Amino acid sequence: MPKPEVVVFDLGKVLVDFDYSIVANRLKSRASVPLEDVAARLDQSPLLVAYETGRMTTPEFFAEVKRLTGYNGTLEEFAVEFGDIFAPIDEMIAFHRRLRELGFPTYIFSNTNELAVRHIRSTYPFFSGFDGYVYSHEVGHMKPDAPIYEAVEAMTGRSGGAILYLDDKPENIAAGAARGWQAILHESPAKTLAVVGELGF
Ligand SMILES: [Mg+2]
Repeated sequence: MPKPEVVVFDLGKVLVDFDYSIVANRLKSRASVPLEDVAARLDQSPLLVAYETGRMTTPEFFAEVKRLTGYNGTLEEFAVEFGDIFAPIDEMIAFHRRLRELGFPTYIFSNTNELAVRHIRSTYPFFSGFDGYVYSHEVGHMKPDAPIYEAVEAMTGRSGGAILYLDDKPENIAAGAARGWQAILHESPAKTLAVVGELGF
């Protein structure tokens, strides 16, 4: 394999950790349904998929959350409670910084939503340091569907082995590998950094 020309990062569980049960816990005091129900109604739910594929605006998503959970706060309060669920993964952020110092183009490739992006952008300085951002809610498709991979190729101007791609979900990695990308299943910073070390990084 040639040395890749760009590095494409998944966001969640690669650069930042997240936990939707934190949201559920926080919303508990403002909701009228049990905690487990709030969690089940958010994480991996059709509602979140609709939001993250851009079929729902933030106000529409918020209205539906209120309807499903009885949440009684404002959108501004919800934005904080819903957005603030991330924790930085320092080793991977340091790897990204090293790539930037080498002048290497880097991209974010994420199944995500407007509230999460807004929060991460305002909280983590490293997040501003990418050459481009491919978000499911803007493309209208989620990984592992082909159109969002095509959006990455269009944005980076690269394809096949020129793209090095890191993601923690096997199905997303499989879809990248099927396009000839150099795709690494991210299981831990130590494992990933060992693999990229072999590639010359
Ligand atoms: Mg992920």
